[in-house]
Amino acid sequence: MQRKSLFINGSWREGSGGRIAKVFDPSTEEEVGVVSFVEREDLDAAAAAAGNAFKGWAAMPAMERAKLLRHASSNMRSRSEQIATAITREQGKPISDARLEVSGSADQIDWFADEGRRAYGRIVPSRSPEVIQMVLKEPIGPVAAFSPWNFPVYQLVRKVAPALAAGCSIVAKAPEETPLCAIETIRCFEDAGIPAGVINLVFGVPSEISEHLIASPHIRKISFTGSVAVGRHLGVLCAREMKRTTMELGGHAPFIVTAKADLEAASRVALAMKFKNAGQVCVSPTRFLIDNTQYGRFIDLFVAGIDKVVVGPANDPKTTMGPLAHAGRLAAMETLVEDAVKRGAELLAGGHRVGNRGYFFAPTILANVPPDAMLMKEEPFGPIAIVNPVKDIQEAIFEANRLPFGLCSFAFTTDLAEADLLGRSIQAGAVAINQAFAGLPEIPFGGVKDSGHGSEGGIEGLQAFLVDKVITQRSAAA
Ligand code: NAD
Repeated sequence: MQRKSLFINGSWREGSGGRIAKVFDPSTEEEVGVVSFVEREDLDAAAAAAGNAFKGWAAMPAMERAKLLRHASSNMRSRSEQIATAITREQGKPISDARLEVSGSADQIDWFADEGRRAYGRIVPSRSPEVIQMVLKEPIGPVAAFSPWNFPVYQLVRKVAPALAAGCSIVAKAPEETPLCAIETIRCFEDAGIPAGVINLVFGVPSEISEHLIASPHIRKISFTGSVAVGRHLGVLCAREMKRTTMELGGHAPFIVTAKADLEAASRVALAMKFKNAGQVCVSPTRFLIDNTQYGRFIDLFVAGIDKVVVGPANDPKTTMGPLAHAGRLAAMETLVEDAVKRGAELLAGGHRVGNRGYFFAPTILANVPPDAMLMKEEPFGPIAIVNPVKDIQEAIFEANRLPFGLCSFAFTTDLAEADLLGRSIQAGAVAINQAFAGLPEIPFGGVKDSGHGSEGGIEGLQAFLVDKVITQRSAAA
């Protein structure tokens, strides 16, 4: 079944070159399936299908598109267990988290279904009584979307739902590590009656696909979620082709705890946010910057809390942290910890692989990590926390803004003036104060600096797929 993993112009098929890749369960390293790879001619067919379907889809009234999208979300809810099981098996997150990912994805579809009906333009008062000046919002055209493996359903839906709601067609490249849950997701749209060619799904060699689709004359916009390095490369290719982009890239989130913070609340959120999805989350906190006066106590609470993190196979209901998504992530964690310790960091917890089967890595805390450690510059994208002392709030803000990233950030204080200062001073797309952060459908989320540009979520997430057209019209009566 999985061999027919490409969805092009309304039918499921294999790649024309017969190339496939194996899919592994990261909890067991067992092969759980295969995925077909596209060839250039398949990509051309997908881009042409999106190009042909665009006109009819864009012309369909937004109310009708909304009904189909609502049907897709209802399919997703009724198939929740099946999709969540696929996520758990391919990506490794605990089944309870996978179920939340599915319901959160269905919520995204519902929200954009409704928001698509509110893509209002405006009338601009004109300088002449005979002229009317209208600003129309039009769908940008067929989109190529590249979604990552960390939230394989949610991240795919974050691109498909607003694109479709705006009236765009799409060629989505989902992650090769997690094809089945992406296939199940696209089936929810197919079975809702979305016309052939409006959604196309491909897998293959990521660089081959992105280079080919960016150059395709059918494709008008690229939406990418992934690392800064890949985002930068794709940005250059898009600039050459004059294609618009949304880039949701990496982060290195600071987590500031001031002298006036509620430590119990801060450590509770620290544990919940750091080890969720084994740290493979773009908003995951990485640099815990703790006021000197709170440092020792925060570390005690944080280290004690780690005992409650249950590392184990994703399908075990007792597990709270599953494996990393692929073997490469495990090697990356080992390198980062080794480098930090070699340069003088203190290893307070974890720092090693768990077992010798499955890509499990222990929840890890490193204290007093020196600025020259790789970890202080590179996003770990795994269960590693850096806990460093700071002398005051100014030093914390300086360190928070030191890196070229600016995606998510966290701050804890019970002082209103400090909260105000932190909210305004931290250079990031999002600042969560005294609480956790979640990318909800109704709020925009995106980065500043090297973390990318454009937003997903919120009205901004819909606007990303719309262009403005001005019509200045002389009245027929004039
Ligand atoms: P990676 O950079 O090789 O891959 C990340 C994602 O980008 C994958 O889904 C991959 O298929 C895609 N990709 C890679 N090269 C591409 C190309 N030329 N064209 C189109 N897509 C391409 O690294 P990885 O080890 O798989 O993931 C780790 C890094 O990726 C992390 O450091 C993190 O910064 C980033 N990442 C970010 C997010 C996010 O939500 N922002 C999600 C997953 C990965």
